[in-house]
Amino acid sequence: MNVTETDVVIVGAGPVGLFGVFQCGMLRMQCHVVDSLAEIGGQCTALYPDKPIYDIPGLPGVNAGDLIGNLVRQAAPFLPIYHLGQTADRVEHETDGRITVTLSSGVKLRAAAVILAAGGGTLRPNRPPLEGVEGYEGRHVIYRVDQIDALRGRHVVIAGGGDSAVDWANALEPVAASVTVVHRRPRFRAAPASVEAMMASVERGRISLATPCQLHSLEGDGSAMSGVVIVDDTGTTRTLAADTLLALFGISPHLGPLSDWPLALDGATVKVKLPSCETTLPGVYAVGDIAQYEGKLKLILTGFAEVAAAAHAIYPRVHPNEVLHFEHSTTRGVPASPPGDVTRQEAVEALS
Ligand code: FAD
Repeated sequence: MNVTETDVVIVGAGPVGLFGVFQCGMLRMQCHVVDSLAEIGGQCTALYPDKPIYDIPGLPGVNAGDLIGNLVRQAAPFLPIYHLGQTADRVEHETDGRITVTLSSGVKLRAAAVILAAGGGTLRPNRPPLEGVEGYEGRHVIYRVDQIDALRGRHVVIAGGGDSAVDWANALEPVAASVTVVHRRPRFRAAPASVEAMMASVERGRISLATPCQLHSLEGDGSAMSGVVIVDDTGTTRTLAADTLLALFGISPHLGPLSDWPLALDGATVKVKLPSCETTLPGVYAVGDIAQYEGKLKLILTGFAEVAAAAHAIYPRVHPNEVLHFEHSTTRGVPASPPGDVTRQEAVEALS
């Protein structure tokens, strides 16, 4: 497997990692950005894209998804290479002082420095506590829909009561053979218009509701699923004939592979020294939610300042023979955006 040389590897394409691309770019340092999720944006995209954030300086209210869109545009002139759907698994220091990060795909990125902007770690969907669920995962038990057409003609049970559950019920209603939504409460915590649309489909007999009910178990031979057993609040169980369970119980962070990196940890966070945000591993910096020091505030704005400081601390590693003269962005300016509008998809380059 070839090794790709770059200036800085950023682990995490959340808001802080994205702003890291801009800060490094302003200091003439090229970045490769790795994220375990298929989408750019970290918690903002995965957990609350439509919620307004009110404490980003200069933006009295901005939807989390729009903030990410703007950060992607701000980073675009510096031509970052995104490696999405891959984890940064291992780190090695080379004898020449450079650092190699190995991704889950086997791709190796060698850089002068690494910035961990990894939030609470890899974000993973919460798995329902059902016996043997692992055996059905992928084909019968899924946690997100990548291609709606793959569920054409399927008997789908959707478990969950938030926006995702209601939106997917509405989207799958014309496609799936049947859709049943299981929720432990009688009411759904979703956009009123979406709930209204779902209830209209329930009245037309196109969507079935099982509320208040919870998942009880799965029926099948351990790899081919034939039904989902649910239980109501009186303890009565019944089986829904189904070949697909779409379980939407949110996403939680796990420190993941970084817990095996030889870093000084404080619980699920990485200890850093200020102001550089360097960790106990030379050349490896941690910023944003994952960085820990006394008085740390887990806010996006804190992460922005941390990654700016880390980028300036990294500069001599990338440009060892140059003295850094501090300049404001108003003085330095930014390079023109690449031709056309670089979208998230266009910016993604699979190097595996
Ligand atoms: P994250 O956004 O967590 O991104 C980290 C990324 O790193 C993730 O995508 C993860 O998949 C990836 N990753 C981790 N480990 C690896 C690995 N080994 N390999 C590859 N990828 C990896 N903050 C505010 O300032 N204001 C608010 O109003 C606000 N509201 C919030 C509301 C909600 C509902 C939530 C959940 C959070 C809110 N926050 C708010 C917190 C804010 O979202 C976080 O502080 C911010 O997302 C941290 O950014 P980050 O870039 O450090 O990490």
